[in-house]
Amino acid sequence: MWQYLMPTKIFFSQRVVEKNKEIFKNFGAKALVVTGRTSSRINGSLSDIENALKSMGIEFYVYDRIEENPTFEQIRQAVEECKTQSFDFVIGVGGGSPLDSAKAIAVLLRNRSLRVEDLYDSNKYSSALPIVAIPTTSGTGSEVTQYSVLTDDTGFKRGFGHDSIFPVIALIDPVYTVSMTVSLTRSTGLDALCHAVEGFLSKKATPISDLYAVESMKLIKENLPKALENPNDLEARTAMSFASCLAGMVISQTSTTLAHVLGYPLSTFKGIRHGDATAAFLDAVVHGAESEIPQKVQKVKEIFGDIKRFIESAGLKIELQLSDEELETWVKRALTAKHMQWTRGVFDELSIRKLYERMRID
Ligand code: NAP
Ligand code: ZN
Repeated sequence: MWQYLMPTKIFFSQRVVEKNKEIFKNFGAKALVVTGRTSSRINGSLSDIENALKSMGIEFYVYDRIEENPTFEQIRQAVEECKTQSFDFVIGVGGGSPLDSAKAIAVLLRNRSLRVEDLYDSNKYSSALPIVAIPTTSGTGSEVTQYSVLTDDTGFKRGFGHDSIFPVIALIDPVYTVSMTVSLTRSTGLDALCHAVEGFLSKKATPISDLYAVESMKLIKENLPKALENPNDLEARTAMSFASCLAGMVISQTSTTLAHVLGYPLSTFKGIRHGDATAAFLDAVVHGAESEIPQKVQKVKEIFGDIKRFIESAGLKIELQLSDEELETWVKRALTAKHMQWTRGVFDELSIRKLYERMRID
């Protein structure tokens, strides 16, 4: 038995915001635009949105203080600042951090009595303000997922999923991604790679998600090296935006697995970018699935050869100092993480500790 839900309407092209500005009129008279501090001003996405909204006669307010790995506290501050105004819809523009924040804010502005913690109890709400997602990185696929990943008050990343936060519209313009640095291109590209591979090997994989996953893997194999070599290669950027969107559609069906679980603390406690942190464990996901689904693992190998080597050739090398206490806390946390149940293979305390120890230096 499998099912498929993908309610997000996707528009994909260069100058996509300008070409489709009429769609904003369907959502009402006032928009909240949620973004980060600088990049959406540099890559042109914010001015495209402002121009589109102005020409449609839609009022808007820009909240631009979302940081990488958004925290509960940042969401509380955003809601506190925005709750005095009445918005008809929320536009998230930027990388996964502003998109995920826009989703959380959209729920909290629609359901005024909820606290951030309540986002994790899906029975406590059933709707959000409509969300328009405009990605400027090519990695998270958040523009087509029902997930938002926030960092809780103890410093751990926790994702919540709810059908009400599927963006109603995703507007994808690959040109916005051209301004990404090489290291951001690598980490976001590797994030998309993890989504495709983890989703393909997940216990929740479906025939539809597998189609998307295989296409996404092929596009990444071909185009991530090109985008890293030549940041202005618009064909490669376009392929990576498409691959990332496909991989987002994959995890919207399959969830992520072990690599995401183990990568989260590396981002919040060691400052390692999400995609880099996650990709450091992707070879273990492939290895873990080998005895259960050898044909699917063979397919991954057909595309990438040795996946660890492909990831390293993109420039990833993680070495970190890790105290015994950190190691113990992270291992314990991983063992109880929800997404472990969809990971194939046996991962116990010892094997998880070994995976962290691989990157440990004195
Ligand atoms: P991000 O955290 O949104 O942004 C990282 C950095 O990239 C920021 O400094 C940002 O600048 C900058 N940036 C964004 N677009 C840029 C561009 N076009 N050119 C130059 N710089 C740019 O990065 P991300 O990797 O896209 O998102 C990671 C987050 O998404 C994590 O919190 C992760 O847990 C989450 N995630 C969510 C899902 C999901 O399904 N919801 C899936 C995977 C990951 P500003 O500071 O100016 O914004
Ligand atoms: Zn991810």
